[in-house]
Amino acid sequence: MNRVIFLLGLVLLTAPARADFRAGAHAQDISPTRFPSPVNGGMKGNFAQGVADPMQARVLALHDGKRALVFCVVDACMISREICEAAKRIVESESGLRRQDILISATHTHSAATMTAVFQSDPDPEYTRALPAMLAKGILQALKNLEPAEVGWAFGSDPAQVFNRRWYVKAGADYENPFGSKADRAWMNPGQANPKASIPAGPVDPDVAVLMVRGAADHRPIGLLANYSLHYVGGNPAISADYFGEFAREMALRLKANDARYDGKPAFVGIMSNGTSGNINNVNFAVPIRPKRAAGEQIKVVARSVADAAMSACEAIKWQTGTRIETEETELRLGVRKGTPEELAQAKQILATVPKDKDGQWGDRKAIYARETVKLADFPDTVPLTLQVHRIGNLSVGAIPCEVFVEIGLRLKRTTPFERHFTISLANGYDGYLPTEEHHALGGYETWRARSSYLEVEAAGKITRRLEEMLGALQARAAR
Ligand SMILES: [Zn+2]
Repeated sequence: MNRVIFLLGLVLLTAPARADFRAGAHAQDISPTRFPSPVNGGMKGNFAQGVADPMQARVLALHDGKRALVFCVVDACMISREICEAAKRIVESESGLRRQDILISATHTHSAATMTAVFQSDPDPEYTRALPAMLAKGILQALKNLEPAEVGWAFGSDPAQVFNRRWYVKAGADYENPFGSKADRAWMNPGQANPKASIPAGPVDPDVAVLMVRGAADHRPIGLLANYSLHYVGGNPAISADYFGEFAREMALRLKANDARYDGKPAFVGIMSNGTSGNINNVNFAVPIRPKRAAGEQIKVVARSVADAAMSACEAIKWQTGTRIETEETELRLGVRKGTPEELAQAKQILATVPKDKDGQWGDRKAIYARETVKLADFPDTVPLTLQVHRIGNLSVGAIPCEVFVEIGLRLKRTTPFERHFTISLANGYDGYLPTEEHHALGGYETWRARSSYLEVEAAGKITRRLEEMLGALQARAAR
């Protein structure tokens, strides 16, 4: 008898007790209400006069019965660490989730209200004060929507929409950077069939990763998180979620997620997160002429193309219910690349002599970068970065607060100890571009010292190695 009870106890202890996987999703409107609204994404600050389609925080919440993981992907060019942390503090105190269980990232739409000062665009402080509560509200609603669910993931591919935007400068070609140097060997966006540019200075990553959840009983699509390494596709003068919003709408249509039989249930949320797209855009510079497109047409073309790849991934999903979640977070301190005292003095000299344009902003690149040198002088010598790795079953996800170069994402996909991996850029803060050391040596826009590129030259190696250590630790914990 005792032996039977003992054996029964052993079975209870060792049984996979977590078949109670739950998921919830919610899309929270976070559009600004005061206009003109500052919009960042260019070297000059833009202003939107209204909303074309709403900015959202698209949230996918997962719970395995013990651990939770929340993805909150925000329609923003970039989102500051302060806003992310403030939103997480509200969620922590209201839900009991830990900060490491929450990943907040920006899509990188270039038509969103400014959340972080970069180049000549500063946020409306009233808007940034209101943001943490709006993001927390969206996350808490997704947690309220948790319901028994099945989860799965698969990878599709869309090589047609991604191009490496950095091209080698041809030997002897004249190319000067805004600091007056002609030593740059890489040229970002050289233009169509530029005779001074030779070939792209790096690869692309065509993967369209999809993590999806559906209702355990009715198989209703609850939410889908995709990941694609494409900078953005936009061009809307009003507030817009760009191609990220169009992809979300497209996936809801294709999955028939708004079917009348689901009335009264929480709405499906499709999400496109930004992969490692620091040097990847949607323009094929190899051809002499770009295809003519009406305003907003390219957004639809790309969203449909990527949705095709996402749909074929969805069809390959092996649905699971006993999937385990683990989350991990660390803080890494990195140095800030500042100008020397001589460079700072020279920058001040440039600003004193170069006039502003009629709009009150600098148009001259030398002056724009001189202003950035002055702004960076006020930065601390080192900054803390939040790094995260998570796993959902045998899929790992990394998060880096930068515009990450594609080589870094490709390496993590090769080195992960899990079956597959993807990396979300612009997550949990904003620390500018993350070129590899090799790309720093080539120069080019993404390496030019500014608030859009200020981490130490060794940053990419340090971040990549730390993420690999964290993934290894996660794997060791999973094996136990
Ligand atoms: Zn960018």
